[in-house]
Amino acid sequence: GTARIAVTGLATMGSNLARNLARHGFRVAVHNRTPTRTKALVEDHGHEGEFVAAETMEELVASLQKPRQIIIMVKAGGPTDAVIDELSGLLEPGDMVIDGGNAHYADTRRREAALKAKGLLFVGAGISGGEEGALNGPSIMPGGPAESYVHVGPVFEEIAAKVDGQPCCVHVGPDGAGHFVKMVHNGIEYADMQLIAEAYDLLSRVGGHTPAQLADVFKQWNEGDLESYLIEITAEVLKHTDSTGGALVDKIEDAAEQKGTGRWTVQEALELGVPVTGIAEAVFARSLSGHIEQRKAVREALGAHEVVAKPDEQLVEDVRQALYASKVVAYAQGFDMIREASKNYDWNIDLGAMATIWRGGCIIRARFLNRIREAYDANPELASLLVDGYFSDAVKAAEAAWRRVAVRAVESGVPTPGFVSALAYYDALRSERLPASLVQGLRDFFGAHTYRRTDKPGSFHTLWSGDRTEIEA
Ligand code: NDP
Repeated sequence: GTARIAVTGLATMGSNLARNLARHGFRVAVHNRTPTRTKALVEDHGHEGEFVAAETMEELVASLQKPRQIIIMVKAGGPTDAVIDELSGLLEPGDMVIDGGNAHYADTRRREAALKAKGLLFVGAGISGGEEGALNGPSIMPGGPAESYVHVGPVFEEIAAKVDGQPCCVHVGPDGAGHFVKMVHNGIEYADMQLIAEAYDLLSRVGGHTPAQLADVFKQWNEGDLESYLIEITAEVLKHTDSTGGALVDKIEDAAEQKGTGRWTVQEALELGVPVTGIAEAVFARSLSGHIEQRKAVREALGAHEVVAKPDEQLVEDVRQALYASKVVAYAQGFDMIREASKNYDWNIDLGAMATIWRGGCIIRARFLNRIREAYDANPELASLLVDGYFSDAVKAAEAAWRRVAVRAVESGVPTPGFVSALAYYDALRSERLPASLVQGLRDFFGAHTYRRTDKPGSFHTLWSGDRTEIEA
């Protein structure tokens, strides 16, 4: 065979990725279960580079140089397993199977182990950037055995987004590391969007600003520390008017959907014991918004809360600072989660490198990821992003505004679970004492769960139902 690499699964993501590869000069073999998609791709875009159309999986495999590299871009879950099964019967030891779909990292670990037993190299690659990114340069998070990166790395680095000349692609770590990091990326994306939505809500309802005015505010914010793709497109969505002449955002049903990666992130965080409160609040806020009937029932029973707009000069700047500080907290939590998983699974993930490859191509691309990279480069063992000099200065500087915003939100009845829980997280981590002492006392009372003391080592239990003396447990 003569093709450098193959793509199977030519729906939106797969066909755009194949075109990206071809445009970068790679001879790319293409295949889809239903061959009409393959034909359409070659007919519509064949002039963009060298495509080798394959009708069957056998043809696809035969068209490739060895060791073979095949990227799977089919529906995640069962379909991905079906394609892997079919391929693994046709490939030879040393060949590489790359799953570029949104797989759960536990599936990737399982698949990697199964293919390893057959002498095949399995690469679970997180690919972010949606259809536009797949075509023009995504952020790519490949996991899998290190020797696979020698082959797939140069191809991926070529087609990935570039920031300051550096590709947004790096070998993340063994087996499921790449898909894990992609999952956390999506979780952070949920948190980011929730915080932006809260800022919009407060400034509309308390600040009395119109969507068009807010489009300008977000546009301005995008010139400072908050500069990011999501802030940029917030301005675009807010300023858009539909055929009725009004702001589109006012017409969109307020029920947010989710495809599941945010939920996965929170589930895994619970298992790892990492408090990702920002991501969890975002997932629950979407879930709450979707309960249309329940919302209606409660609204009718209790009456809708009347929010009175009280515009003031300071609100816009205060909200900007609250948004920035809350965002720092959400990222700090997300990076904690990657660090914990990395320890747990021996992935040895370079946190600074993750910030680096998220600077371009992906949905959470943002200026401040440079600061995160600098923080972890300076100290890979950071206890939290919040202790890095730049970020601790930033949150301290924002603290007064952050508290004012939380107070305004609570007083006026605008729900801001993201802002408020981020502030609670910040306050809790800094507290000298937490009321966990009382929780431990209660646990000992009803369940003899024991507690430790601040003044001497050991575990203790109070004989609550006896004479209440303390015994060493
Ligand atoms: P879809 O997830 O809609 O999947 C459609 C593709 O899967 C088609 O090529 C279809 O073939 C194929 N397929 C479905 N079932 C089977 C099967 N049993 N055997 C073989 N092929 C099958 O395509 P997308 O392009 O939207 O996404 C591809 C992957 O990328 C998914 O894992 C998705 O989660 C992920 N994704 C990532 C995004 C990102 O931003 N990174 C955005 C969107 C998706 P056929 O034409 O024959 O039906």
